[in-house]
Amino acid sequence: MSTKYEAVIGLEVHAQMKTATKIFCGCPTTFGAEPNSQTCPVCCGMPGVLPVLNRKALEFAVKTGLALNCRISPYSRFARKNYFYPDLPKAYQISQYELPICEGGWVDIMVDGQTKRIGLTRIHMEEDAGKNIHEGTAYSFVDLNRAGTPLMEIVSEPDLRSPQEAAAYMRKLRTILRYLGVCDGNMEEGSLRCDANVSVRPAGQKEFGTRAELKNINSFRFVEKAIEYEIARQIRVLEEGGKVIQETRLWDSAAGVTQSMRSKEEAHDYRYFPDPDLTPIIVDRSWVDTLKASLPELPDAKQERYKTVFGLPEADAEQLTAELPVATWFEQVVGAGAQPKAAANWMMTELMKYLNDDNRTIDDCPIQPAQLAGLLTLIDKGTISGKIAKTVFEEMYATGKDAAAIVKEKGLVQISDSGAIEQALDEILARHPAELERLKAGDEKLVGFFVGQLMKAMRGKANPQIANELLRKKLN
Ligand SMILES: [Zn+2]
Repeated sequence: MSTKYEAVIGLEVHAQMKTATKIFCGCPTTFGAEPNSQTCPVCCGMPGVLPVLNRKALEFAVKTGLALNCRISPYSRFARKNYFYPDLPKAYQISQYELPICEGGWVDIMVDGQTKRIGLTRIHMEEDAGKNIHEGTAYSFVDLNRAGTPLMEIVSEPDLRSPQEAAAYMRKLRTILRYLGVCDGNMEEGSLRCDANVSVRPAGQKEFGTRAELKNINSFRFVEKAIEYEIARQIRVLEEGGKVIQETRLWDSAAGVTQSMRSKEEAHDYRYFPDPDLTPIIVDRSWVDTLKASLPELPDAKQERYKTVFGLPEADAEQLTAELPVATWFEQVVGAGAQPKAAANWMMTELMKYLNDDNRTIDDCPIQPAQLAGLLTLIDKGTISGKIAKTVFEEMYATGKDAAAIVKEKGLVQISDSGAIEQALDEILARHPAELERLKAGDEKLVGFFVGQLMKAMRGKANPQIANELLRKKLN
């Protein structure tokens, strides 16, 4: 971005809550069911029906507010947001307007190694609309399975300054929501999506520029790309002497551009008013305290503990805490007696590589945490070398057997008997007199050559430290 301008970005993230049933009726929320099979008179907007708030949805919204440092409103209520669309059978969406469940709060993100605090405006609960399907036929269809699915809308302050910050914020939110178990964060299925308010202003100017709202962003990559495109577009308009107009723009991921959809609507266009079918929500303080006490250790606290208690570097702590099941797995390896740094290294390199290649998650890893700890103990004790350990690991992954059993079965125990190593080394030195002369003349590259030859002769089982020491001794 040109340094002449500064971008100002705020995100509205819609997170689908992981409740078993919808927000105002008992219909299931399972993804991918037969169209319109998960509907009832309430979510189809039949006349005369009465919505009833799903307590779990309220619990999830309050938990999220607590985790994101918000004030939990003791009194909030639902409002009707009136508009007509074929996927909205009531012709209004039940949302929250002037009295949302959570206000204020913040999320800390990492930007170029620095912590940046992004303020939150509010979190409110609302119901999702259904889905219109236009593709592949001459007709349009409406699927109401999604109508009434509980959503949280998490609204940030306009504190973000770059597409990268926006993506980092979105990732951090996803991590926290998944830790809490309130949203599965599955962006492909639309469980987490965002709208971005983007404007630019000349660097140093206090007032905000006119903003455009980008709709329908459903991946981390697209968050960056859509905002990047929009910033460049607005700068171009200003540079050409034009004016940015306030409007809603749709991100077209195939074309990589944002396109004008409609002029931006204002809140008063929706004629919000309190929903007379739903009682106000009065949240009991002691219930909030109970929920607060039930929160899991959150990613920031966990990351800090990994650095201070386990002595891990920042990058390791960040990577291991990004997903709760990975963090739990790591803690189990350490709990079984492994050195934290060694456990972290093996998990982030070998284990993740195998799982990725296999398209598996840590939840269906064929190796148990205690088994990795067992392998690390064998390396620690000098029973096997780090190199042999990789072979053992491969076998463990394929068979689910313990490291010690594999080492025994395949005769992989490291040879630390200096007599045996010396004998093999003498033979190799005798076989390569020219290389030996060059080494003696100071060509240090030959150390690697001889150790390599020795390892080959001893099928990788020689203790490398002893091999190196013996070679040095021979040279003197
Ligand atoms: Zn229903």
